[in-house]
Amino acid sequence: MSTIPNDAKTRRAVAPVICYPTDTLPKPDLKTYRAARLEAHKSGEVVVAPREAGCFTVPAGHFFRITSVEGPQVGDFNLWNANDLSERFYSGKTRALHGSHLNTGDRMWSSFPYLRPMATIIEDTLDWYGIDDFGGAVHDVIGTRCDPYTGNLLDGSHYHHCCHSNLTRAVADHLGIALTEAEPLVHDVMNVFMCTGFTRDTGQYFMKASPVRPGDYIEFFAEIDLLGALSACPGGDCSAEHSNDAAPCFPLLVEIFAPQKEKLGAWQSPAPNRYDGSHGR
Ligand SMILES: [Zn+2]
Repeated sequence: MSTIPNDAKTRRAVAPVICYPTDTLPKPDLKTYRAARLEAHKSGEVVVAPREAGCFTVPAGHFFRITSVEGPQVGDFNLWNANDLSERFYSGKTRALHGSHLNTGDRMWSSFPYLRPMATIIEDTLDWYGIDDFGGAVHDVIGTRCDPYTGNLLDGSHYHHCCHSNLTRAVADHLGIALTEAEPLVHDVMNVFMCTGFTRDTGQYFMKASPVRPGDYIEFFAEIDLLGALSACPGGDCSAEHSNDAAPCFPLLVEIFAPQKEKLGAWQSPAPNRYDGSHGR
């Protein structure tokens, strides 16, 4: 171990500063969204089977709700611009802007060079949970998605129902493309209903039994035309393990709601990021 400097205590005592203060971030008009939602009507639904994934599309200005049904279940969630799949959810920048776990009013932001809100969380029945004594919270944007490559690396397994594979198959089927074309479209997820954090002593990513119960839901407003893919994680409530068939798993319900357009008032789909793109040349 390296030598501890004399002023180590002073250096450690420096107070942190927030990397990205969000005071100037355009705020969602939740009041308007909720008013439009009140008179919205259901226009479609997808039931995602346990250890599988499902795709769904949501037009800009519509709403979608993900609900736990039958038993506690977490979902690995991917999002694309339905008209241009190169614009996809950017988990890392969303984390940098809103923190490690998403709450009501937070947005799912898209990749460069677009970097605009794709979806806004308008309601979450787990918003009471907050941050527990272990540092755990729900709906993280820190995990990547369970995948067969990491499983193989750690124990030589070839498990085919990790969220990465579930999402790959669902996207391939939805778009009518080969698995090899679909796989690169899959990206780091939002872990819906999953309860996670980092251990204070070793800094390791942890999970614990999700507090979600049947009937709990999280609801989003689609800021742009969206293609979504949701995997009912083989970890179930992620209380013990994932990447195998051991955990009890349950379906997840996705419902789409069409708004009363006039209730959205002056709302407009956000434009792509206005950075001039020159990179100094
Ligand atoms: Zn998973």
